[in-house]
Amino acid sequence: MKAILVIADGMADRPVRELDWRTPLETARKPFLDQMAKTGVSGILDPISPGIPPGSDTATFALLGYDALRVYSGRGALEALGSGTEILPCDVAFRCNFATVDENLVVVDRRAGRISNEDATELAKNISRIQIEGALGFDFIFENTIQHRGVLCIRGSKLSALVSDSDPGRVGEKVLAVKSLDNKHESKRTAEIVNKLLLEFHKVLKDAPVNKKRIKRGLLPANMILCRGAGTIPKVRPLSQIYQIKAACVGATPLVKGVCKVAGMDLIEVKGATGTPQTDYVAKAKAVIRALESYDFILLHIKATDVASHDRNPKLKVEIIEKIDSALGYLMSKIDPDKSYLAVTADHTTSLATGNHEGDPVPIVITGPFVRRDGVEKFDERSCAKGGLNRIKGSDLMPILMNLLGRTTMFGA
Ligand code: ZN
Ligand code: ZN
Repeated sequence: MKAILVIADGMADRPVRELDWRTPLETARKPFLDQMAKTGVSGILDPISPGIPPGSDTATFALLGYDALRVYSGRGALEALGSGTEILPCDVAFRCNFATVDENLVVVDRRAGRISNEDATELAKNISRIQIEGALGFDFIFENTIQHRGVLCIRGSKLSALVSDSDPGRVGEKVLAVKSLDNKHESKRTAEIVNKLLLEFHKVLKDAPVNKKRIKRGLLPANMILCRGAGTIPKVRPLSQIYQIKAACVGATPLVKGVCKVAGMDLIEVKGATGTPQTDYVAKAKAVIRALESYDFILLHIKATDVASHDRNPKLKVEIIEKIDSALGYLMSKIDPDKSYLAVTADHTTSLATGNHEGDPVPIVITGPFVRRDGVEKFDERSCAKGGLNRIKGSDLMPILMNLLGRTTMFGA
């Protein structure tokens, strides 16, 4: 028995005015998802807890069966891990942006004019060569990931992730000094290191040849690194130990890949998987089918639905759901229905109306040989609320799936 869990990021929504007060799931033409609802068991799921808007990281931890409130230790380290940075358990990592600041360190553009990968790579090389004088005793790694994004990883003894962000989060405000959040020696030391590093980065970036060329071409110079989301790698028992399974993830976003790596899952890279609405949905589905040969559990993560909601684009969100539906059709045509479970859900609601993650429950459906079919005929927020799973928590899903796979042990005698 095998299981595939499809997570469409932020797919769940609230009723939308532009869609006649229906949700995108209620609007989209999605024969395969509805087929799943007809033949499976449905329900709604609170990723963390009712009314709590989850991040993609905490929600994915929960959907993998972990207690997110206990294991979560910040976004930076997960993003670093998912981007392939070699991060150690003692490291403190931050999520970074190349940004443009003026001479008073006031932010002019938080993405340095959406700098190209090429320019960002060159600038990352410049700042990686920096040597810090003094007796702070630490090493650092700075790597750019996609466009303006990057990760900063601080390595040394007596560090702490309980420090604030340098990113003020909006233009027109001055870069913030990183501060200790608990007033302890470790966090004060970490804040001092990061503040010193960021100023050194600024000095080097400001005179970097790439930036001089950018200014000549009329582009914004990437003269500052903004950092946020300090974190360390959470210590969790890998899925392979908890359920005796081989697990893999097919996805493109560093954050979700980082969570999966922490859970001990293998990451499967797919050509054409971009984490954007233009991603190759069928290529990802094909990768899942190939992975079924060697894995018991595969998580297929699709980011595009969340992107459409943050961009507050109802039409795009409906189109993406229809593309996901086609990819599911491909999956359904290739799996052995007697030997596989297929589950589809969202990691949270991302509201087209607010452009934010919200705390509403998300729909969930599970198909497979031994599920108790219910009377639900459509896969959407309101239909699934009448389903046989009723209302479950995010962390209930993995035990339910693993029990269907025969991978759970009896509690008691
Ligand atoms: Zn998400
Ligand atoms: Zn989001």
